[in-house]
Amino acid sequence: MHETDYLIVGAGISGLTAALTLLNKCPQAKVTILDSASEAGGLLRSVSYDDKSFDFGTHIPEMSSDSELNSLLFPADKCADWHRLTALKTGNYFAGKMNEQSQFLNVTYATDWFNKALYELLQTSAESQPSYPNLDVFSRLRYGQCVTEKVFSPLMTKFTGMALNELSSKAAAYYGMARLIYGDARCAANLKKIAAFDEVLAYPSDTQKPRQATWIYPSDGKGIGSWITLLTDNIRQLGGHFIFNCKIEAVSHQQGNLVIQTQAGQLTARQLIWTIPAYSGLQGGHQQRPASRAVAIYHFHSKTKPATSQHYLYCYDAAMHSYRITFYDNIQQHDSAACYRCSVEVIENDERIATVDDIKAELVTMGLFNHVDEIIHAGSISLPFGFPILKAGDEQSRAEIFAKVKHHNPEILFCGRGKPQVFFMTDVLLDTYQETLTLIPAVECHHD
Ligand SMILES: Cc1cc2nc3c(=O)[nH]c(=O)nc-3n(C[C@H](O)[C@H](O)[C@H](O)COP(=O)(O)OP(=O)(O)OC[C@H]3O[C@@H](n4cnc5c(N)ncnc54)[C@H](O)[C@@H]3O)c2cc1C
Repeated sequence: MHETDYLIVGAGISGLTAALTLLNKCPQAKVTILDSASEAGGLLRSVSYDDKSFDFGTHIPEMSSDSELNSLLFPADKCADWHRLTALKTGNYFAGKMNEQSQFLNVTYATDWFNKALYELLQTSAESQPSYPNLDVFSRLRYGQCVTEKVFSPLMTKFTGMALNELSSKAAAYYGMARLIYGDARCAANLKKIAAFDEVLAYPSDTQKPRQATWIYPSDGKGIGSWITLLTDNIRQLGGHFIFNCKIEAVSHQQGNLVIQTQAGQLTARQLIWTIPAYSGLQGGHQQRPASRAVAIYHFHSKTKPATSQHYLYCYDAAMHSYRITFYDNIQQHDSAACYRCSVEVIENDERIATVDDIKAELVTMGLFNHVDEIIHAGSISLPFGFPILKAGDEQSRAEIFAKVKHHNPEILFCGRGKPQVFFMTDVLLDTYQETLTLIPAVECHHD
């Protein structure tokens, strides 16, 4: 039987953060990380074809406001030459136009119906409500009928396969549509003086809202997977132990310890740290993961430089398959002898299967390349649990399930995506770090 002080469930970036925090604060603690996959990293992994590296989707980590957490995750001696970005260059394609000024969709590009949309926006009630029953109600009340039918409905069907009235009012934010652009800088500044408009409107250019942050990315050309290798090596050097290809079947309590039944046998731990969204094996929990849609990621390279300087772009064209495109050589300094790489994320749709040729044609239609022959397909991967679908009522039901699981398992620490409301990486990292720190006094007492 494997015995450990701390058993961390999930070797994604959250589990790795928890392990590093514990091992740095309490070097004598026995820390074990268990994962059902065959390697660490979760969604933060890279794949290589003919020496060309690509990531599992866009993942550019942001340095946190906590310098101690930064030094755990980005040790100065190992990350000195990594790429540091003071702004994320994020654009989007909408209504036949490329917008390189902002990630947010610019409604003014829809010249045939923009005036109607603006009129409706100005007619909307300026009062925001504490909550909305679904995205349809939210969109109609906050933006009006035109934007609901021309923007939210087709795009959210593309992204989730569901109708607006089946989705939570917050579902669109996962797809970069938390706000929309309705005019130039002066128009945005004026409208945003009204609190209710401020919440739903974006500035036309990201430079108008400077954000103090630094994003960081490995410089060895091997993608985000290099970060995971660095962290897993550090954890092993500090004495951490990994168990892969292993799933928890049941957790019980015996004489002050937790006994964890897995497919591979039993483990005992003084403390369990849960970083994954499913609660299988836990009392009060169930097997089901939160709803999500599979994502296919198509990796391409070319000798010609894509016609954009953006780090990544969203495709807000409901007729196209593409969702988000990452341009690695705009993130990294480009070696002129090498080729240019990009990855296209496609949210899978059983009724409309994308082919490699479809995606290449879309890259040309978006003006990123001149001809499909310039684009070479390197390979593709599929993530079965990709983008989350926040259905109407989900927030409440997820909170209820979480409360029930916590109630039945008071000694388990839930962090990162183990909590229903945490999804984006910056939040995952900070939450995991802060939660793990709460265990430190107990560890130190134990070993003193
Ligand atoms: C396609 C996609 C794009 C994204 N883009 C962005 C973005 O642009 N910006 C951003 O901030 N965030 C983004 N995110 C979210 C970001 O990926 C997450 O915040 C981050 O990866 C979470 O890390 P994690 O360790 O919590 O989860 P994961 O990376 O999912 O790792 C969880 C680990 O747990 C393991 N596991 C799962 N179930 C079990 C089980 N039952 N037993 C044992 N092990 C198990 C898995 O194998 C995996 O290794 C994106 C997510 C997706 C899906």
